Amino acid sequence: MSNQNHISPPHFGSDPRVRYVKVGNLIIGGGAPVVVQSMCSTDTRDVDATLAQIQRLAAAGCELVRVAVPDKKASQALRNIVKGSPLPIVADIHYHHQRALEAIAAGAAKVRVNPGNIGSRDRLKMVVESAGARRVPIRIGVNSGSLPDDILERDHFIVTPQGMVDAALREVELLDKEGFRDIVVSLKASDVKTTVEANRLFRERCDIPLHLGITEAGLKGYGSIKSAIGIGALLMQNIGETIRVSLAAEPEEEIEIAWWILEATGVRRRSPELVVCPTCGRLEIELIPLAKEVERILKEIKLPIKVAVMGCIVNGPGECRDADIGLVGGRGKGLVIRNGNMVQTVKETELLNAFRQELDGLIEGRKA
Ligand code: SF4
Repeated sequence: MSNQNHISPPHFGSDPRVRYVKVGNLIIGGGAPVVVQSMCSTDTRDVDATLAQIQRLAAAGCELVRVAVPDKKASQALRNIVKGSPLPIVADIHYHHQRALEAIAAGAAKVRVNPGNIGSRDRLKMVVESAGARRVPIRIGVNSGSLPDDILERDHFIVTPQGMVDAALREVELLDKEGFRDIVVSLKASDVKTTVEANRLFRERCDIPLHLGITEAGLKGYGSIKSAIGIGALLMQNIGETIRVSLAAEPEEEIEIAWWILEATGVRRRSPELVVCPTCGRLEIELIPLAKEVERILKEIKLPIKVAVMGCIVNGPGECRDADIGLVGGRGKGLVIRNGNMVQTVKETELLNAFRQELDGLIEGRKA
């Protein structure tokens, strides 16, 4: 791959030069839309609780979900989870080749296992043959906390982006030797800069699709910001084919943040974008309650439209120019703007109704 230091224009697919893998009914890579994923926090052996959480994740917009498979009971439960899940399931294995084989047999759409952890070449061959026969991709995961000793020693016990890339390429080589190419790689550190640089270096070397995330990002507030900066920086360089926001929070909350990252970077859009002025001394309307009400209405809409809510006529109309619908407050009155043209002047108290009316018209227009 070529060096990609430039910022790409907004796009709605991943980099088409990256190879792709099929994960259940999803495509990761090859120019397909960036996939949103998460991981269950339930005990996998509790099938009902896990399926209930997967349903909540699916309703929130999750497209792929990972579950931990630490023991045989978990891999037995996996069969029923796969059967009852509306989403493809990724089995998180880590070490034991037998769990990987059981997970593949149970219908996992992808397994996360590092070939170097499996033990012997014979065991690896068994896993690769089983995954290959069912076209189940393998995700190799390199985390900053688990780099091989020799790489750490070489780098003076400092986790470096190059060290992470070398560790990942070593794992990739083991699969390459077995002729296995359905691979996804993740390179995650809790440090944003290290993660961004590791993924950028890897993409220069290799066309394998990348799963992006900042590991152990933290609680929802700061963790979301770290994730947005790290994942967002990479997506803006056209790097990354699937994302997971790792928060110490309910997994559904990760999905909301993941979609905001995709929408803010312009990589994928599924819902309206709301632009609101930050308010200042020129404010001529009760702006924040109005914006919150508009936001509530827009939550029901699954259309990639742009709505702007502005607080005065000095800057409002100009700022609304590129919005599908703009609302501008001004001394008890409100202006409604459609695609840069003023279409209604109403009393401030009627601005919300006027918005609903324009929104209905816009939705009808898009359906036609
Ligand atoms: S739109 Fe008007 S009220 Fe809002 S920040 Fe700009 S100048 Fe201030």
